[in-house]
Amino acid sequence: MFTHNKTLQYTVRVSEPNPALANLLLEQFGGPQGELAAAMRYFTQALAEDDPGRKDMLLDISTEELSHLEVIGSLVCMLNKGAKGRLAEAVEEEGELFRSLQGAGNDSHLTQVLYGGGPALINSGGQLWTAGYIDSIGEPTADLRSNIAAEARAKIVYERLINVTADPGVKEALTFLMTREMSHQKSFEKALYAIEPNFPPGKLAGMPEFEEMYVNTSQGEGDMRGPWNSDENFDYVSDPARFTAVDGGDGSASVRLPAAQKKLVDAMADRSTSAPDANPVTGIELGKAEGTMARTTKVELDAGGSPADADAGTQSRPAKSTSAAKGKSRSKR
Ligand code: MN
Ligand code: MN
Repeated sequence: MFTHNKTLQYTVRVSEPNPALANLLLEQFGGPQGELAAAMRYFTQALAEDDPGRKDMLLDISTEELSHLEVIGSLVCMLNKGAKGRLAEAVEEEGELFRSLQGAGNDSHLTQVLYGGGPALINSGGQLWTAGYIDSIGEPTADLRSNIAAEARAKIVYERLINVTADPGVKEALTFLMTREMSHQKSFEKALYAIEPNFPPGKLAGMPEFEEMYVNTSQGEGDMRGPWNSDENFDYVSDPARFTAVDGGDGSASVRLPAAQKKLVDAMADRSTSAPDANPVTGIELGKAEGTMARTTKVELDAGGSPADADAGTQSRPAKSTSAAKGKSRSKR
């Protein structure tokens, strides 16, 4: 069960209301790298976890993330406090109130008007929080790696938020939250490497002949070698002849169909066969303006000649479309 402690994990001291900053902080309330996403990520992983050590760690960290949600939500509320009262009591002229809500640099008018200055479950751009932010797969060697990356991203968002505020109390609380994400990252890394072996994730082995292959598919100036593709760690493949059908087959795709299905597939292919030597007139030719999408040739451009001067065999234009185009462009002028 959960109980609630009325004392925040870290004291929130906000110097003065700042709705624009409140709006930015929503990123860590209802955003993809935010505290709700973190809490739900680890809580759901904890419920399914069978390893007692990891289960306990995931419950500890998910509960702490909920406590972070409370801190960041409280920051949002304090920063919005002034605007909330002004909106609710409407003592100012409408125009003046509206101007103050979307004054210089303040893009939080929507969150204030629509959500009353409270911490909505949205990111700073107004996107609704979604469970799609959580990518757990139920295999600890994969989930711990994702958790490590999630903590790294959360740390970076906090770092950026810290850099955009001069309010010492806000800076301090954000720095605390950022620090805790670093600690979580460390726990998840230790937990990952406490599983031996932990690579490859899961149980099945790969195909040994492809495990060390590095394919240099983007070739030219800028090709670089490093530990990520070194001869020591990888079989570096640069020969395009070795790129495709690496299994030694013909590189095609095939399936064995029951006779009845094969008959239907053939019938459909027959019905939709294209004629390579057809040159049908389409709506584009009938309605096009002079010069638009015209299949001009080099001869035509150089000599200023008519299409008739060009190689009629490959570059012919239907006569009908030329006159139609002329009529159209005249009527436009
Ligand atoms: Mn957190
Ligand atoms: Mn965390």
